[in-house]
Amino acid sequence: MKLESYAQGRWTTGSGEQVQMRDAATGVVVATASSEGLDFGGILDHARTVGGAALRAMTVHERAVAVKEMAADLMAHREDFADLSYATGATAADRQYDVEGGIITARVLSSTARQQLPNAHVIHDGPPVGLSRDGSFIGQHVYSPRRGVMVQINAYNFPVWGMLEKLAPALIAGVPSVVKPAPQTAYLTAAVVRRIIQAGHLPEGALQLVVGDPGELLDHVGSQDVVAFTGSAATARTLKTHPAILAAGTQFSAEQDSLNCAILGPDAGPGTPEFDLYVREVVAEITAKAGQRCTCIRRVLVPRQHGDAVADAIGAALADVVVGDPRLEDTRVGAMVTTQQRDAVREAVATLRRHAELIIGDPDHVEPRGADADAGAFLAPMVLRADDAWAPALHSVEAFGPVATIIPFDDLDEAVALAGAGDGSLVGSLFTNDRTVAAQVVAGTAAHHGRLHMVNRDVARSQSGHGSPMPTMVHGGPGRAGGGEELGGVRGILHLMQRTALQGPPSLITAATGTWLPGADATVTEVHPMAKTLEEIAIGDQVVIGPREVTLADIEAFAHSTGDHFYAHMDADAVADHPFFEGRVAHGYLLLSYAAGMFVHAPKGPLLANQGLNDLHFGVPFYPGDTMTVTLTAKQKSPRTDQPYGEVRWDTRITNQEGQEVASYELLTVVAKGDAG
Ligand code: NAP
Repeated sequence: MKLESYAQGRWTTGSGEQVQMRDAATGVVVATASSEGLDFGGILDHARTVGGAALRAMTVHERAVAVKEMAADLMAHREDFADLSYATGATAADRQYDVEGGIITARVLSSTARQQLPNAHVIHDGPPVGLSRDGSFIGQHVYSPRRGVMVQINAYNFPVWGMLEKLAPALIAGVPSVVKPAPQTAYLTAAVVRRIIQAGHLPEGALQLVVGDPGELLDHVGSQDVVAFTGSAATARTLKTHPAILAAGTQFSAEQDSLNCAILGPDAGPGTPEFDLYVREVVAEITAKAGQRCTCIRRVLVPRQHGDAVADAIGAALADVVVGDPRLEDTRVGAMVTTQQRDAVREAVATLRRHAELIIGDPDHVEPRGADADAGAFLAPMVLRADDAWAPALHSVEAFGPVATIIPFDDLDEAVALAGAGDGSLVGSLFTNDRTVAAQVVAGTAAHHGRLHMVNRDVARSQSGHGSPMPTMVHGGPGRAGGGEELGGVRGILHLMQRTALQGPPSLITAATGTWLPGADATVTEVHPMAKTLEEIAIGDQVVIGPREVTLADIEAFAHSTGDHFYAHMDADAVADHPFFEGRVAHGYLLLSYAAGMFVHAPKGPLLANQGLNDLHFGVPFYPGDTMTVTLTAKQKSPRTDQPYGEVRWDTRITNQEGQEVASYELLTVVAKGDAG
């Protein structure tokens, strides 16, 4: 099979055979690829001008729906990728991480975006900021799509997840992608891209694929582009200093290797559930994907007194592990991706053996089940055990295969220091049932990690696993891990957009962003805005209700009906020396409840439900005899693309008879569209 690139709207093969890809277990050639003759400048331009323009014309929700549909189609076709996934050396369980894991990541990000971001082109970041005394000049931070392209340079070990976890947030952010998979497993990435293109849920230009040598692809990146790199720290060093990236100031995000640790709490000795969970996790990490996961536990940090017990338990658990043809059902450790990668791991193990004893496994001997040990890239799981915890190689040499080292510590301070000796990791885990241990380890190691994973007996069944990045949690880590920050729910999306501080009069900022800000023009409408359909509501529609007096009897009735007899509402003597109330005050919730009663449009209509409120602030105290006025202004509309309704946010302000603000909040409602209302 000669792989094709998908470039400028068509499938095309480069001339020659730059890259040859072999089945990891059999050594048989699976595919060849070449990028020779591709117009790299044209490809990036096509992404920016065709794909980017089409994506920017869509709203955030429209783009998220396209991602959802893409994910649903891939899920329906996931079995089509099984044969190619086996060829990468992955077992069926490994494939779940890569193929299903990638698809689910895209699906979760789509749904998170539709839940947490407005269906808009521009996204507000936080509340407006006052920049003048009279409110006529304000500031508002906003996010908008970059006008460039994301160039994905991916590692070989997750040919599907690695692409989808970047593609989904980029698409939702409105940024097209050009994917350059690692040569060893590009055939699987190419098959998934082909399916995505065939399914047709993405606009043309939103996704292109370059297989073969990256050539001068990076020579063409510009100031609006993002290079999203995943791979080794060594390659990242070369790429981030690429002249074009430096010259244009291109955003460069790196997800690199790291020497992740798992700490066994001093309390979690043999016989505790945490000990068993720890051993199970270490074994799962060494064996999954034949240890070729960037998040894999490399440093097994154990209290010195538990070293023997941990070594014995890991040895016992690994004794039954089958290494072999990934296609066989009982194979737990498939093949490494290539014999070159296997040899690189052997070399790394040789280096580690100068500082630690190899207690489990043999780098030069394995009898793979159902496969030829010479033709395929097989390695037996290996565990080393160090005596000198501080030998630098233990904290710097990544054996990117089924390898981990048991490292002893004498006390928790030393464990914390050892965790940091990795110089920045994607993830660290802690197995303890002692809260003080958890507090000390988090305080001491959080700064060295992108993610800290804590496990005790209570989460034995529910925990997601040390090595599994969650779509809603940040993936990335400081220092050696690359400093990147991917996923994390909407964070990963916003990370790919440009944040701009807009300054100006509220009316212009409102016009530019489609979200009403205090001080912008508002229209008191004849029809109550809450009686209007989603389409009929205009941003800035306003209703002013009041004044309504609140008496002492009202306050007492509210106290009796709710049971809220707090002294500041009910006891004049007790409140006499209060630092800022000058007597009994109305309940804040009374004001909210009365406000709801004042602005409600009671008859059945397009307004379907009240979803809650945001940013509630109580202002000046409200005393018996004061009068309240409510001003409700339509602030933002977010029509659902796939539902007969949408969300409407209302700026809500309660003022007293002197015009002072007593309470302000954002009211969230669900309103039917016209044809459904
Ligand atoms: P790698 O050798 O660093 O290669 C990564 C990618 O960089 C490949 O696509 C490679 O393609 C490309 N590349 C290398 N030189 C290039 C150049 N001059 N211009 C453009 N592209 C270039 O890493 P790998 O062996 O594929 O992956 C294993 C490593 O990745 C491990 O160290 C692992 O820890 C790390 N990893 C990290 C994460 C994470 O999320 N942090 C995830 C997975 C893997 P070519 O070979 O075609 O140049």
